[in-house]
Amino acid sequence: MLELRELSCGYGAMRVVHGLSLSVGAGEIVALIGANGAGKTSTIRAIAGHIPPQAGSIVYQGADIGRWDPIRRVKAGIALAPEGRRLFKSLTVRENLVVGGYTRAKSGEAANIERVLALFPRLKERFDQPAGGLSGGEQQMVAIGRALMAEPKLLLIDEVSLGLMPKNVDICYEAIVRLKAEGLTIVLVEQNTERALAVADQVCVLESGRRVWHGPAAQARGNEELLGAYLGMH
Ligand code: ATP
Repeated sequence: MLELRELSCGYGAMRVVHGLSLSVGAGEIVALIGANGAGKTSTIRAIAGHIPPQAGSIVYQGADIGRWDPIRRVKAGIALAPEGRRLFKSLTVRENLVVGGYTRAKSGEAANIERVLALFPRLKERFDQPAGGLSGGEQQMVAIGRALMAEPKLLLIDEVSLGLMPKNVDICYEAIVRLKAEGLTIVLVEQNTERALAVADQVCVLESGRRVWHGPAAQARGNEELLGAYLGMH
């Protein structure tokens, strides 16, 4: 589904991700984990087309998409729930969702909204309220829902649990598991390593923009040395 080949990216002349290779199979959940500033967000932004590769390539369903603009990537099935949610705060939940589907046929809009509300029933109560008045957890649900409105095949979620109450983290992760069961491929960025490891198939650990470990999540779950060295869990 997605392959990063020696991807380097950053901001202007500054390089923050160095030669990252990663292969994401269809239907997998891959977790990018690592400390603050490790380059997780930059990696996900490069996949979504918000920053260009400085070197290497991004191959999606066989095509090198590294120079595609973000909208072309959305149309091809890549959608991002970004760091900080970035909702249109004065627009209602419904309007935010509608915006997320702007690349898709209007005829599918109602069904897509139903799908989001089935995934996050809490949003039904908030449907006609401005998104800016919602709790952090509800806003994350809207952000994920807005990305789903684009009918993605590859869903990118940045900082799934950051700043959320544990109950809302549960809701978001239950949704992620359901979306995987529906066949979506998901790349998520997470600072809460235990949460990510619990749902991921594969884990990629970044440190200072370099991949320092990657492999099956099951292996990471049992590898205390790895967790201790890179993630500070033990
Ligand atoms: P965090 O969890 O803090 O978001 P991260 O692993 O997602 O960390 P990035 O956000 O990708 O890491 O940041 C990697 C490096 O790039 C950091 O040194 C950061 O300061 C720098 N950086 C991020 N965004 C920009 C930007 N817009 N302009 C310049 N430098 C940036």
